[in-house]
Amino acid sequence: MPATHEVTNQVPPLVGHDVAAYPALLQSLELGGAGWAVDEVRALGRRAGSEEAQEWGRLAERHHPELRTHDRHGHRIDEVEFDPAWHQLMTVAVEAGIHAAPWGDDREGAHVARAAKEFVWGAADPGHICPISMTYAVVPALRHNADLAATYEPLLTSRVYDFGLREPSTKRGLIAGMSMTEKQGGSDVRANTTRATPAGDGAHVLVGHKWFTSAPMSDFFLTLAQAPGGLSCFFVPRVLPDGSRNAIRLQRLKDKLGNRSNASAEIEYDGALGWLVGEEGRGVPTIIEMVNMTRLDCAIGSATGMRVGTLQAVHHARHRSAFGRHLVDQPLMANVLADLAVESEAATYAAMRLAAATDRVVRGDEHEALVRRVALAVSKYWICKRAPAHAAEALECLGGNGYVEESGMPRLFRESPLMSIWEGSGNVAALDTLRALARQPEGLGAFFDEVELAAGADSRLDDAVARVRKELTSLDDLEYRARRVVEQLALVFQGSLLVRHAPAAVADAFCASRLAGDWGVAFGTLPAVDTTSIIDRTGL
Ligand SMILES: Cc1cc2nc3c(=O)[nH]c(=O)nc-3n(C[C@H](O)[C@H](O)[C@H](O)COP(=O)(O)OP(=O)(O)OC[C@H]3O[C@@H](n4cnc5c(N)ncnc54)[C@H](O)[C@@H]3O)c2cc1C
Repeated sequence: MPATHEVTNQVPPLVGHDVAAYPALLQSLELGGAGWAVDEVRALGRRAGSEEAQEWGRLAERHHPELRTHDRHGHRIDEVEFDPAWHQLMTVAVEAGIHAAPWGDDREGAHVARAAKEFVWGAADPGHICPISMTYAVVPALRHNADLAATYEPLLTSRVYDFGLREPSTKRGLIAGMSMTEKQGGSDVRANTTRATPAGDGAHVLVGHKWFTSAPMSDFFLTLAQAPGGLSCFFVPRVLPDGSRNAIRLQRLKDKLGNRSNASAEIEYDGALGWLVGEEGRGVPTIIEMVNMTRLDCAIGSATGMRVGTLQAVHHARHRSAFGRHLVDQPLMANVLADLAVESEAATYAAMRLAAATDRVVRGDEHEALVRRVALAVSKYWICKRAPAHAAEALECLGGNGYVEESGMPRLFRESPLMSIWEGSGNVAALDTLRALARQPEGLGAFFDEVELAAGADSRLDDAVARVRKELTSLDDLEYRARRVVEQLALVFQGSLLVRHAPAAVADAFCASRLAGDWGVAFGTLPAVDTTSIIDRTGL
């Protein structure tokens, strides 16, 4: 009998690796003053690469959350049920302090360490990073109400994941969400229609809807609503201080393209009680403090996606043969892999530099605040914008196997456009850069000071900086040109970081392709560069 089902030339699963075994990440930890966290990040990186964590990620995505609006007797319960794997992922994330822990940690580099942990642990499952990120981001905004912050900040920073609907102050740890987007608009939140009426005892009564509120099982949300004095930010817990349920109705969960392990809900505030955070009428500036942090996580999350895609592609190419040679040894595949790796490194250095800026801003560094304002806006735009193209190309490196769910690549691909939509879609992120430049013109100088730390080291970078400076001398049609200008700013920021910190092979490939234009439109169009060194940097 001839063997009909002998399996050859199939690639072993990529498990048991260390996601953190990545020089770009480890060096960024040192640069950001978080060298002390290397061991913890490595341990988490090994955990993220373990079979167990990858299985949690698969299960949480496969058995996506289910909404239970009522109990069997018809009472509203508004609960979301998750696969146990989701809770495992959340437990590890909270124990590692990826949520709000840095706000209770005075060590220099605490926010950098947290960013690196998020980078590696997000490789296990991107969906649960959403509530983890919002919990991180809520603290600076919540501090606009000192009483609420005094009560809840210790519970937000606690390392205990305590799931379940109970009065927040009785729990051992809290998770938070944000509730801004309504049916008629997400970018233009000033058009919000949810009303907040003073209840006379310091609370407000909220009536209205929200069209896209992720992590609806959170313990509380920061919610925008129209108060008599204008659009304002409210602390809205799901369980009230007297232990009763707040009137927040989960109408349905979104059937999303990706991010399926995480729940995102349409909700209605049916006379829910909320407490003002920040001044009445200053809702946007208050909640922007939260958005500022989640935007950083959009950049980190997209960089994680690129890391995962590059790892999978390189792993496959090292094991799979075609036409008598391993794919990695085929010159054209080497070009594709190196191009993916360069994009991934550029995103990693930039995201981690922004985490370092965040850490310094928290400690009162005003110059870093100026750099961060511009560099984060351009990087949120650019890193997130590059993620889908990167995921698609990485998927294709696995051939037909990459198109099959079991490879994990469809999950990566489905997730990839999200970060560019959330917290300011592409155009809004680009326009946000222009707003930053208009409001704080000195920010542009600080940004260029940072970029020009690499001045003279590579003429292609110098020329690119001169070009974008010239582009900014005319303000005519700047809104129309916003994406073009922002892309150039993001590229010189990445180029400067790579020229200063990455090995020559990576910096050279970046400058030749992204800055000097010796490149095509698709990945895999690098000129002659040292592809072997670049691919070896992935750690596989
Ligand atoms: C998975 C997921 C989770 C989410 N979770 C939350 C959450 O937890 N809380 C929450 O509040 N929201 C959440 N959102 C909503 C998200 O923040 C909004 O979808 C986003 O802000 C865009 O708003 P919108 O969908 O209303 O699109 P619109 O505002 O209608 O924008 C549509 C398009 O027009 C562009 N555009 C807008 N203004 C301009 C302009 N002036 N010039 C040029 N182009 C412009 C935008 O860039 C976008 O491409 C989530 C979305 C997703 C997909």
